[in-house]
Amino acid sequence: MARDERSVTPQSEDFAAWYNDVVFRAELVDRGPVRGSMVIRPYGYRIWELLQADLDGRIKATGHQNAYFPLLIPQSYMQREAEHVEGFAPELFTVTQAGGKELDEPLVIRPTSETIIGEMMAKWISSHRDLPLLLNQWANVLRWEMRPRMFLRTSEFLWQEGHTAHATAADATAETMLALGFYQDVAVEAAALATVPGEKTPRERFAGAERTFTIEGMMRDGRALQAGTSHFMGTNFAAAFGITYTGESGTAELCHTTSWGMSTRMVGGIVMTHGDDKGLVLPPALAPYQVVIVPIGRGEQAGTVSSAATELAARLRRAGIRTHVDDRPQLSPGFKFNDWEMRGVPIRLELGPRDLAAGTALMSRRLTYPQPDTSRPESGKEAIPLAAAPDLLVAELATFQAMLTQRAADFRDDHTATVYSWPEFAAAVAVGWALALHCGEPGCEDEIKAETTATPRCIPLGGEPEQGPCVRCGKQSAYGKRVIFARAY
Ligand SMILES: [Zn+2]
Repeated sequence: MARDERSVTPQSEDFAAWYNDVVFRAELVDRGPVRGSMVIRPYGYRIWELLQADLDGRIKATGHQNAYFPLLIPQSYMQREAEHVEGFAPELFTVTQAGGKELDEPLVIRPTSETIIGEMMAKWISSHRDLPLLLNQWANVLRWEMRPRMFLRTSEFLWQEGHTAHATAADATAETMLALGFYQDVAVEAAALATVPGEKTPRERFAGAERTFTIEGMMRDGRALQAGTSHFMGTNFAAAFGITYTGESGTAELCHTTSWGMSTRMVGGIVMTHGDDKGLVLPPALAPYQVVIVPIGRGEQAGTVSSAATELAARLRRAGIRTHVDDRPQLSPGFKFNDWEMRGVPIRLELGPRDLAAGTALMSRRLTYPQPDTSRPESGKEAIPLAAAPDLLVAELATFQAMLTQRAADFRDDHTATVYSWPEFAAAVAVGWALALHCGEPGCEDEIKAETTATPRCIPLGGEPEQGPCVRCGKQSAYGKRVIFARAY
């Protein structure tokens, strides 16, 4: 088949080119005028809105409240926590002028809001009765990006950042794990990713955190994507910003704080987890259109088919299905089929005069799994009765969602190897993930990275206790468990 201008580069040929083809041609994004900036187009933004609504519900259901803090942060705030400023310094945008005049103190555009929220927490918390303080903010942040990639690394992105303060380290640790659980649940249940929750090794921790937890997803090129992080700060930020409470004994105590974030990067993760050579594949839970109806009919029949399509769409919408009728008259059905396949719509319905006369529509799913699915007709098209369409499609969408989840998990498991030697390690990270014992020494990590570009992604939470020689240098392993190493985004 000739590759027309709307087809995409095959994944096996060049995964990065495939990714770019898909995000632009599916109209998820466009390039902004400033290097590293991204315009999120309506189709891409809708995916984000659906994810956002799901996550926001989980955050609010556990007692957190949304608030909004300023975009501009006094530079001095950033400097109060030594590790934090050192970690973020290379990425900061700084405003030095306003109203045509030099500012007395430069202002940092938020790269994250621990400092300004810390300042306010210090003001709002005085007694143990003010704790826990459970805040969340939906906002944009800016971090200078040398090598931008749409959704994955852009200088400006959208996210939520949770910030909480607690009386005890145990309470703050429980909160850190609660937030990690939100991310794991959203990633698996809504985005159908096969993420692994785990703890970051010391060098991969957030700047200023005592412990950092992550969920790591496997993309279809075998690389890992950090899809959400949750940080236990101990008393580091409380000490820097004076966040204290008076305990029951009357003495002033430092609070223990957390922060946690998930961003528009998740949209890139969805593209790279589910997409194929035809383009995007969207999980129904986050698909802007779950079902697209393509009316097929010419001349006199066009009107009849079109009104039947509109009526069917209304019935599907009443059943809670996000439905779109593609009634663009100037385009052929074949073009529309390819277009919606490329844009990842889970289910397509064709409705022509013969189908109408038979009281049916022709259903095609965006993909089947396992492939080939012998329980389905070979053409991939199935006639479904119009009368029962809403119930049938609700069930079909649930099946499609479960199928994508299973497919992602199978792909991850098929591309994850438990390794015992350096050759096994190198072979594993060339195509996927390696579960390896590691000594935990920075120099050894550097050597691994120099030779394979793989880095430690996380120490999986569920891993079995294990000790032994480091896969690279043979020294005694650290962490008491295997570590996931992978090339990462
Ligand atoms: Zn080592």
